[in-house]
Amino acid sequence: MTDVPQGSASRAKTPPRWRTGRRAGVLLVLAVALALWWAMAPRETLTLANLQSCHAELLAWHEVSPWSVRGAFFVLYLLVAGLSLPGVAVLTLAAGAVFGLGWGIFLVSFASSLGATLSFWLARYLLADLLRARMGPRLQAVRTRLEREGALYLLGLRLIPLVPFGAVNLLMGLTEIRSLTFYAISQLGMFPSTLLFVAAGQQLATLRSASDVLGPTALGVLVALGAAVALLPSLAARGLQRLRQRQRLAPWRGQRPRQFDTNLVVIGAGAGGLVSAYVAAAAGAKVTLVEARAMGGDCLNYGCVPSKALIQSAKVAHQVRTAAQFGVQAQALALDWPALMARIAKVIASIAPHDSVQRYTDLGVDVLQGHARIVNPWVVEVTQPGHDPKRIRTRSIVIAAGAQAVVPDLPGLQDVGFATSDTLWAQLATCKELPRRIVVLGGGPIGCELGQAFARLGARVTLVEAGERLLAREDTDVSALVQAALEGDGVHVRTGHTALRCHQSPAETGVPGEKELVLRQSATELETTVAFDLLLVAVGRRARLSGYGLEALGLDTERTVPTNAYLQTIFPTIYAAGDVAGPYQLTHAAAHQAWYATVNALFGDFKRFAVDYRHLPQATFVAPEVARVGLNEQEAQAQGVPFEVTRFDLADLDRALCDTGNTPPTGFVKVLTPPGKDRILGVSIAAPQAAEMLAEYVLAMRHSLGLKAVLGTVHAYPTFTEANKYAAGAWQKAHVPRRLLALARAFHAWRLG
Ligand SMILES: Cc1cc2nc3c(=O)[nH]c(=O)nc-3n(C[C@H](O)[C@H](O)[C@H](O)COP(=O)(O)OP(=O)(O)OC[C@H]3O[C@@H](n4cnc5c(N)ncnc54)[C@H](O)[C@@H]3O)c2cc1C
Repeated sequence: MTDVPQGSASRAKTPPRWRTGRRAGVLLVLAVALALWWAMAPRETLTLANLQSCHAELLAWHEVSPWSVRGAFFVLYLLVAGLSLPGVAVLTLAAGAVFGLGWGIFLVSFASSLGATLSFWLARYLLADLLRARMGPRLQAVRTRLEREGALYLLGLRLIPLVPFGAVNLLMGLTEIRSLTFYAISQLGMFPSTLLFVAAGQQLATLRSASDVLGPTALGVLVALGAAVALLPSLAARGLQRLRQRQRLAPWRGQRPRQFDTNLVVIGAGAGGLVSAYVAAAAGAKVTLVEARAMGGDCLNYGCVPSKALIQSAKVAHQVRTAAQFGVQAQALALDWPALMARIAKVIASIAPHDSVQRYTDLGVDVLQGHARIVNPWVVEVTQPGHDPKRIRTRSIVIAAGAQAVVPDLPGLQDVGFATSDTLWAQLATCKELPRRIVVLGGGPIGCELGQAFARLGARVTLVEAGERLLAREDTDVSALVQAALEGDGVHVRTGHTALRCHQSPAETGVPGEKELVLRQSATELETTVAFDLLLVAVGRRARLSGYGLEALGLDTERTVPTNAYLQTIFPTIYAAGDVAGPYQLTHAAAHQAWYATVNALFGDFKRFAVDYRHLPQATFVAPEVARVGLNEQEAQAQGVPFEVTRFDLADLDRALCDTGNTPPTGFVKVLTPPGKDRILGVSIAAPQAAEMLAEYVLAMRHSLGLKAVLGTVHAYPTFTEANKYAAGAWQKAHVPRRLLALARAFHAWRLG
């Protein structure tokens, strides 16, 4: 064993070298210009006292050659403003003192606006990429907002003479605001101060300091005006939002109850709804939870839990099948299908108490088992079997109604019969044995997980995916690894194949009554037919949006319930969380959102929290598992975020070598960092316990710890989590300061004598 990272690679996706070189050139020119400025025109030159003492001289010079003085002044002003050097205020006074009001305002107004634009360009050119790389999505949100409302912010800042001129140029250079807009707004916003300073310059002799120019009244007026303009966008946005919400509520205003039965009604007791009810009860609110089907929702009953229980059985089968590779002779594999399905039911039953009516009732939640319908923004009607519908008056509502499987419009599909993740478990429970030939339609996480599990249990599985690769949201290397793993387990992967139709083979062909799926390969247009005993449709899940009042409310029911960053719908009283709100379809995402939706629904009048998805882990439980947090390569490229990739392959990991049979271990830890920095932008892991390993990186990212912190953490030996440390070590190795290393080598050589 060794504690030193091996076999690592680090490659950079950085801005082109020529751009970095050019930037360094511009920086050099700037540095030289600044050095010259300080050497030739020290700080004392542009002072009020100097100006007052040379006033007569300047007037005389202007008398003799007005155009050259105006030209020289314009260029000087432009440079001082453009390079954000001190002295702009004194130059503006000089303009009034030498050129008078008209020419003074004209020259200063154009020179200062052009100078500001020059400094804005320099900031954009030199710093914007750097900042974008550092702040990623958070900066993107700020930039988007400034792009939308930046003109008003800029105008406000320009109006306030207390805000440093150079700082505004720098700040705006880092946003997406257009240069022309910046120039025009700057000219407009700086006009009042320019006017006041140039006018004051005409009384130069009476001034004691530049701060005399703006008396308290003028300063107060400008600050108030600037602040009002700068705050206008957010005030206007809030006002507009309130107005829209009032308009939305207007048709129901007459139906608003005077009193309420409860603080919150939660629709759906899945991952999102359960957390929402829990949080509300813990916060002391009166909360009613309504569930139409089984408590626990999709995850417990049809999703994560049964699928992971099935995957575990498949893993055992795989271990038995490959036992000889580990020097263990196992008898021929025999599947006891009813026992396997009974185990899945037992696993569900053992977790069910966590999500049960009893538990939530004990927590203080009013649990109603029935169908909920939103009558108006304050009233939910619950229909329970055998009871009259009951209307509940509520202050707020959280919709956590989940999603359901998408069924494609495939000719013949309904006739041959099929399963979705919603119906699969009930269908499988009626089978005496595992269906012999299974076609899985869809190469996303659900299709890959279940397809591989069925193959490991002994079914002949064909996995059909219209796209060119499996798990299209992952990087190509992850997709390739998963495809190889599935094929290694015997799955016939048909990427680039579109399902055309289903049928039962006619009597005159080989096996009459055989169920078949006809596919077309996109590249060759060739049609093939695959026979199956079970067709699992796993082409995606769509938010549940109909049948409980959304249409009547006028809520958009196209894709998901539309919400803002606070998970509030267009109605101020209605929030949404989980699969029904999107964009993620994950249990922990639903739970995460539920906290925000609930807290905002209960306390939003005082303080609201915008949901934050930056460190949301995602895992697909194929073997090896694939898991990731933050950006992957394709996302970073799409967002224009410069990055470096550091990768550590499991083939070099002691624990992976211990655990692997005849074939060498596959998998990797791949970390994205900004060029030259150890800050973690994202991590993708493919490994037997990738989802567990990822937790260390999720924590690191959440608490702004870089790869150096991961490297400096002791990891138990031999574990898979050591791969996290080795990836960090690989990064460190690629970033050793070479000169320092050379010095150290020389030092040690010298010590040898
Ligand atoms: C096969 C499969 C495997 C999965 N594996 C994983 C995994 O490994 N990890 C992971 O993170 N995620 C996994 N998921 C996704 C996960 O199950 C969902 O993201 C999660 O269940 C979403 O929770 P939710 O609360 O939004 O919705 P749900 O759990 O679907 O709960 C919504 C509930 O609302 C109820 N409801 C709807 N309308 C009404 C109404 N009008 N009145 C009353 N009740 C109503 C429904 O009956 C349902 O119980 C998997 C999903 C599937 C299908």
